[in-house]
Amino acid sequence: MKIIKSINEMQRTAFEVREKNERIGFVATMGALHKGHLSLVDIVKKGADVIIISIFVNPKQFGTSEVSPQEDYERYPRDVEQDIKILEDKKVDIVFIPDTYEMYPEGHLSYVNVQELGEVLCGKSRPGHFKGVCTVLVKLFNIVKPDITIFGEKDMQQAIIVKKMVEDLNFDIEVITGPTIRENDGLAISSRNIYLSAQQRKDVPILYKSLVIAKEMIEKGERDSTVVIEKIRSLIEKKDAKIDYIDIVDKKDLTPAKSIKGDVLIALAVYFGSTRLIDNIVIGVNP
Ligand code: AMP
Repeated sequence: MKIIKSINEMQRTAFEVREKNERIGFVATMGALHKGHLSLVDIVKKGADVIIISIFVNPKQFGTSEVSPQEDYERYPRDVEQDIKILEDKKVDIVFIPDTYEMYPEGHLSYVNVQELGEVLCGKSRPGHFKGVCTVLVKLFNIVKPDITIFGEKDMQQAIIVKKMVEDLNFDIEVITGPTIRENDGLAISSRNIYLSAQQRKDVPILYKSLVIAKEMIEKGERDSTVVIEKIRSLIEKKDAKIDYIDIVDKKDLTPAKSIKGDVLIALAVYFGSTRLIDNIVIGVNP
């Protein structure tokens, strides 16, 4: 496995791969790799000859707001040596690990923003987050030159925004998604789960449990979003948790779905102590 730290070398290498008519499959990560990340590697492998993973904790997507004090950049888990071992075992071809200065040298002024879609759900409580995500992804796309890239449905809003950005800005890249990988009790695997105390770890499966209950309510005929949201809220409030948001939106454009029809996304973000966890479920309702 090749480890590349410089943008120039990564661009040159990607160019050489494409010259050989080999397809590049790309997974962007912030490291602290787990089964969720590796599932994306498995999926993207099917559509590519050369697999490139980036590990970069992107400072531009971390809020400094008081709403999310623990979202801070310094505190994000990092274990590059372990990540490299995992990716070697996984037979990944190239890992791109630039440092912050390489990605954002002094004087960086350019940003990419997907309006509206980036301002709801997580974008509301983390202003600027998706602008940071889109900016780093555009840079990574220009550096890694992928033919195909994959995003996890655990971050469904992010996946939807990236697809829109790629379409709007005419990137010649296929964007696919992979399902959320969960622990046996339903908890969506996340690098942030290590922050949870033993009690919180016992409580957090309520997130997915409440989404599944919501899905069942809808399948049984409930169409009023307010009723469904209140049910989820009441289940989560039984735990020592602080709800950031619970929303039901149209999956296409993330606008509020007052009554449930078509493909809807139920998304939530909840604090357990200072750890903010997100989860979501998609439900298709035939009119
Ligand atoms: P991150 O390192 O958190 O930026 O995540 C990198 C990619 O992995 C993103 O596309 C995430 O949506 C995806 N991802 C993170 N956790 C999971 C999971 N539990 N299941 C599937 N994909 C995931």
